[in-house]
Amino acid sequence: MDRALIECRRCPRLVAWREQVAREKRAAFRDETYWGRPVPGFGPVDASLLIVGLAPAAHGANRTGRMFTGDRSGDVLYAAMHAVGLASQPTATAVGDGLTLRGTRITAPVHCAPPQNRPTTRERDTCRRWLDEELRLLTPTLRAVLVLGGFGWQTLLPTLRAAGWAVPTPRPKFGHGAHVLLEPATPQRDPLHVFGCYHVSQQNTFTGRLTPAMIESVLTAAGRAAGL
Ligand code: SF4
Repeated sequence: MDRALIECRRCPRLVAWREQVAREKRAAFRDETYWGRPVPGFGPVDASLLIVGLAPAAHGANRTGRMFTGDRSGDVLYAAMHAVGLASQPTATAVGDGLTLRGTRITAPVHCAPPQNRPTTRERDTCRRWLDEELRLLTPTLRAVLVLGGFGWQTLLPTLRAAGWAVPTPRPKFGHGAHVLLEPATPQRDPLHVFGCYHVSQQNTFTGRLTPAMIESVLTAAGRAAGL
């Protein structure tokens, strides 16, 4: 899946943006070679916990090629994951930095960096095929999903419904600390816990809307639900 994903060019606006950013670079990274392609999920493919963000940051994952790596959002997320035992180290700087995740995979509903961190509805819908595929691969082991922000929540719930979990109507609302237990459509599967957490963007972490203690609390609950 990853090999096909990193060749994807289905969204012309995002392809143009990710490549423009990779060419022009930020001054602080001018000696680096940017990834400038779709960023695949990070973590084991037999994970029991999936963390779903929004999209790669232009000078973060679009530069390093790994989810939440090389930007402030990732600094906050991996520090919290390390604090609760889900990450081997509290920092994520580049592929090859030694970071590993315990039973956890991190992905995004949109795999290419969007201008202003805002994908369009069409881009979200176009990229959903990759989320469908990732969920299909993870389904045998998946027990819990932690969604960072309302965008991921809005994208994930219909995807889960299509993948065979009984998502109620009307759909459960996103909120920090939201928790929904979805029953499987077939009895061969375990129920799936879905948790909501404010996104780890600077908008939330710099303003105190989201604190490290709040992230760790939701991560702990999601990790327990996933049997980690
Ligand atoms: Fe492909 Fe998704 Fe990137 Fe669009 S956002 S080009 S569908 S990988």
